Amino acid sequence: MASVAAAPASDTSAPSLKASAKDCATNGMAEWDASFKAADTVIELAVGRKAKPDLTNLAFGTVFTDHMLTIEWTSDEGWQKPHICPFRNLSIHPACSALHYAVELFEGMKAYRGADGAVRLFRPMLNMKRMLKSAERASLPSFDGAELLECIRKLVELDQDWVPQSDSASLYIRPTFVGTEPSLGVKKPSRALLFVILSPVGSYFSTGAKPVSLWADPKYIRAWRGGTGDCKMGGNYGASIYAQSEAVELGCQQVLWLYGEDHQITEVGTMNLFLYWINEDGEEELATPPLDGIILPGITRQSILELTRKWGEFKVSERYLTMADLRRALKEDRVKEMFGSGTACVVSPVGRILYQGENLFIPCLGDHPPLASRLLKELTDIQYGQTPSDWTYLV
Ligand SMILES: *Cc1c(COP(=O)(O)O)cnc(C)c1O
Repeated sequence: MASVAAAPASDTSAPSLKASAKDCATNGMAEWDASFKAADTVIELAVGRKAKPDLTNLAFGTVFTDHMLTIEWTSDEGWQKPHICPFRNLSIHPACSALHYAVELFEGMKAYRGADGAVRLFRPMLNMKRMLKSAERASLPSFDGAELLECIRKLVELDQDWVPQSDSASLYIRPTFVGTEPSLGVKKPSRALLFVILSPVGSYFSTGAKPVSLWADPKYIRAWRGGTGDCKMGGNYGASIYAQSEAVELGCQQVLWLYGEDHQITEVGTMNLFLYWINEDGEEELATPPLDGIILPGITRQSILELTRKWGEFKVSERYLTMADLRRALKEDRVKEMFGSGTACVVSPVGRILYQGENLFIPCLGDHPPLASRLLKELTDIQYGQTPSDWTYLV
């Protein structure tokens, strides 16, 4: 057995992957001999180049760049060389375990072009670390996250013309990892495919930065303790579409996911959730639910917690929040703002919650809630290189 080597100390923006990946050695090989290497990447260039789309009114994730990255794994031979090839359909066995049993996970990250023309990623090693955690939960093989990041860097560099020249648009990066076991047994896959595709995106929500309306009902739950809600596994999202449709039928844009008898507030749509309020003890507080197994550990969430703790201007808490807490605080006029956070939109203010047949209106100060606006500016200034930061990674 290869030992999991103690990793050198590193800052939080580049956490050690070796410590988080458990026992990924195969056949007695040293741990990371079991990973592919970016230096081995084989590049097959596309013959032509596609026309770039107009980003205004472009639906999220509908247009893709000229190239993609694919890396195959088998239990017999381990990882193959990474391939960068023209964007094209995959050929998949009809018994493929991703298709039957949702052995699938993904990541969501972005490349941003600054006013200086440089292309940057935002804390990408945190995505690699989270992807390895999802892979472990999905019974898919481990790899060296730094090597995958370097493969992604090469891919984005090759398709860099697709990174929009804009301070609100970006190039969305979708790393995906699927079991390709060609048999119907419910078992650990003996084959897998890791691939990365790139899609230029404008603003995520059709309403722009306008406050969103939410439907809160304990009828559907997104995640549960012991489940997979804390991993970006495809099954979580496919199962959420039904509730999302019901929210739209009821005149709301997104689902506010509740949990438990006490209707704990967990996440909103595919975003983490923050409440900025005067808490029960009269303290000014920014609160978000703790990472207790049902919350997706968002990189935007982590960044907001780190930024606001650094400001030191108010209490910042990871704590439980219930609908009763919210309703009482609204009645007592203690709610300042509520917003979702995620890579797609950075922050998305909440304006209204439909709960038990009642509309709860959240203060938004003429659609420009001060804290959400300030966080949006601080984070996008880092992402687009306006504020120098060790959270950015140059492509
Ligand atoms: C991806 C995701 C988030 C946000 O994570 P970021 O890393 O900030 O983009 C939050 N909740 C869910 C359910 C998600 O899938």
